[in-house]
Amino acid sequence: MAKIPMTTPLVEMDGDEMTRIIWKMIKDILLIPYVDLKTEYYDLGLEYRNETNDQVTFDSAEATKKYGVAVKCATITPNAARMTEYNLKEMWKSPNGTIRAILDGTVFRTPIIVKGITPYIPTWAKPITIARHAYGDVYKNTEMQVKEGSKCELVCTDANGVETRSVIHDFDGTDGIIQGLHNTDKSIASFARSCFNFALDTKQDLWFATKDTISKKYDHRFKDIFAEIFEAEYKEKFDAAGIEYFYTLIDDAVARVVRSEGGYIWACKNYDGDVMSDMVATAYGSLAMMTSVLVSPEGVYEYEAAHGTVQRHYYKHLKGETTSTNSVATLFAWTGALRKRGELDGISELSAFADKLEQATITTIEEGVMTGDLYLLSNLENKKKVDTETFLREVAVRLEKLL
Ligand code: NAP
Ligand code: MG
Repeated sequence: MAKIPMTTPLVEMDGDEMTRIIWKMIKDILLIPYVDLKTEYYDLGLEYRNETNDQVTFDSAEATKKYGVAVKCATITPNAARMTEYNLKEMWKSPNGTIRAILDGTVFRTPIIVKGITPYIPTWAKPITIARHAYGDVYKNTEMQVKEGSKCELVCTDANGVETRSVIHDFDGTDGIIQGLHNTDKSIASFARSCFNFALDTKQDLWFATKDTISKKYDHRFKDIFAEIFEAEYKEKFDAAGIEYFYTLIDDAVARVVRSEGGYIWACKNYDGDVMSDMVATAYGSLAMMTSVLVSPEGVYEYEAAHGTVQRHYYKHLKGETTSTNSVATLFAWTGALRKRGELDGISELSAFADKLEQATITTIEEGVMTGDLYLLSNLENKKKVDTETFLREVAVRLEKLL
């Protein structure tokens, strides 16, 4: 059979440890035999990042801007232990942070749902995608402990030197704490556009929630910016696509989410997204079944797994032991990127291949063949635990039947 053609390359960002091993297996077993794979390769493995003074990370992000679609393997974010382990010149920053800053994107995390693994909230029959605003608020705060008798004020000095003051609190009879937060209209607008674009792209409703009744200026600004951009740029497109933008208060949103059947995107402010993404991921069962895509306001896409490099499994692998590491989220990063490349380049065969590869993967698990993490969660009676490579070969068998 002839291989499926590609015209524009995908930006391929290789990574570290066990996911780097899985990366190569996926390419060798499930992609290269079927697709005339064209990629522009960037090695984001920690050794090469160190060798290039992290230039490779910047170059890969610039290439993503140029080509529009990237697929990324999990990478090590250096800490003190990694400094000695890899003899690093510097504690290089998180590649994900660097790439996100360059693309100005929003991260969307979506669980992969399979029969046999019931979410802790069993009504969640469809995925809930969380979009977290990754700028500002409490993550870029200024805070102080203050002494009894202190008077604390917010002071803003504008470009003309004019001061505006507002009392936070007079600390009578007790010590206390204060905090200063900020966000920018520009960042909130980018976040809003990424969310509206992704909703259109995936044909799902978009929910957004803040506490604007209490925070009448700060949270209300988020609500207003979303509403203005929606009315001016997206309302007609949403109507045409048959999807909805829905705004409510954050506590009402939480109550609705729990009662829902899923199948929508939930846009969250930074802190809400931090908390809710862990809650939603846990409720769906496994971090190893969570995909992640960074979407820029201009519509550039970078696909990856939500989990890390699975270090513990890698050390077993280095000792020559076989591991049963779940490759599904990394595989779905590839299928997401190939499908998007197919859409952008008008190669329907490539998008159809991505669909079939996902279908083959899900069928494999639903027929009872799975890695150890899912084996512990699955309620299938005929379930069987297999190693990392066997799982991918079982997917290939089912893929062949679909092609
Ligand atoms: P992790 O790699 O996500 O793994 C944590 C644990 O979760 C594993 O030990 C394993 O549990 C389970 N797990 C995660 N993914 C799995 C998979 N695909 N299959 C089976 N089990 C899986 O997180 P970490 O150990 O905290 O971080 C390791 C490295 O990854 C760190 O250097 C960190 O900087 C990096 N990291 C990178 C990214 C990214 O690039 N996006 C994200 C997060 C972390 P058991 O050991 O119990 O089997
Ligand atoms: Mg968190």
